[in-house]
Amino acid sequence: MILKNTLVTRNSFNNFILPFYNPPSFIPIKGKGSRIWDQQGKEYVDFSGGIAVTSLGHCHPLLNKVLNYQSKKIWHTSNIFTNEPALRLAKKLVLSSFASHVFFANSGAEANEAAFKLARYYATKKYDVKKNNIISFYNSFHGRTLFTVSVGGQSKYSDFFGPKPLGIQHAEFNKIETVKNIINKNTCAIVLELIQGEGGIIPASKSFVRELRCLCNKYNALLIFDEVQTGIGRTGKLFAYEHYGIEPDILTIAKSLGSGFPISAMLTTSKIQSVITPGIHGTTYGGNPLACAIAEATINIINTKNILSGVKQKLKRILFELNIINKRFKLFTEIRGMGLLIGIVLESKFVKKIHDILHFSFLEGVIFLTAGKNVIRMAPSLIISESDIVEGMNRFYRALKKF
Ligand SMILES: *Cc1c(COP(=O)(O)O)cnc(C)c1O
Repeated sequence: MILKNTLVTRNSFNNFILPFYNPPSFIPIKGKGSRIWDQQGKEYVDFSGGIAVTSLGHCHPLLNKVLNYQSKKIWHTSNIFTNEPALRLAKKLVLSSFASHVFFANSGAEANEAAFKLARYYATKKYDVKKNNIISFYNSFHGRTLFTVSVGGQSKYSDFFGPKPLGIQHAEFNKIETVKNIINKNTCAIVLELIQGEGGIIPASKSFVRELRCLCNKYNALLIFDEVQTGIGRTGKLFAYEHYGIEPDILTIAKSLGSGFPISAMLTTSKIQSVITPGIHGTTYGGNPLACAIAEATINIINTKNILSGVKQKLKRILFELNIINKRFKLFTEIRGMGLLIGIVLESKFVKKIHDILHFSFLEGVIFLTAGKNVIRMAPSLIISESDIVEGMNRFYRALKKF
């Protein structure tokens, strides 16, 4: 084998990898469906889904087949050419959404960066150079490039990196008055997550989204939905905006789109497409054949009645188990979210111990995420089996007992 199978441990992380993260001591080396195994062969039920990415579980056999097939045809050509998987994937996204055109990139941040640049470019070309203000929301998360992290509403992520891009204003999520107070003719876009993900699994209310749509129409501003976390089946519909009955002008998706193979997309309408000419934006890897083939297969599998309606069933089962847990431990005050993007809002006495709860869960063999300071987040595979749900929840019960 060309890979050397020398043993590496968690210590290597401290020695060789920049500590932007602080991973737990175990190292996953294998995944199948909703289960993960570490170096010691210990097995875990995975409710993290790679942060809402592995919506078809780990190593789905059909995706492995597609990956293998495409890897023998062609991996990468750059965007000086187009390619068959990208063309098929774009057509599929257009046919199943509000959009008429698609741009492919490699991460959520890049799709949002493209969306924000496009909103400004469109307003500048069509109206006025001064029309460049973007309104976003406190507590929101849009990625880690300097532009996207500045548009994001958590200054702890954007402070200390020097001057921030100008022309960004923040309003209060679900409080339309705070938007009305700052929107004006120089607003080029309003951007929001329909469910604030990293911020704590907080859904936007229907009336809020409807009023944002009206404000955007009134002020000739574009409405941008960041569906990086909610898109591609996570909420039980292909896109979360379908629950709201409101269409954006620009939509971004990433996480679930590639099942773990990096790919993202920005979708928009022909009205906006009309200002675009070759060269004003670009990417080397975006829309490469390997990523697009996997994304196409991912959508083919997820965008079926069976899987989308299954989301509701699985949520029901998880809620049933969580309520049993809550009877015993008085763990949470509320469950928030939509479909299989689930936020467990902790009772105040548990908030400071959230990382201990996760740690005890790891020890018992079940994996969760956090969101915000006081929420345990679950974003499991959309096809997690009932027995995996029950086993994972039993382990969670035992973890809480020991904790
Ligand atoms: C994860 C996430 C991003 C950033 O995606 P990356 O692939 O990490 O760049 C942006 N927006 C939302 C809503 C996200 O959840």
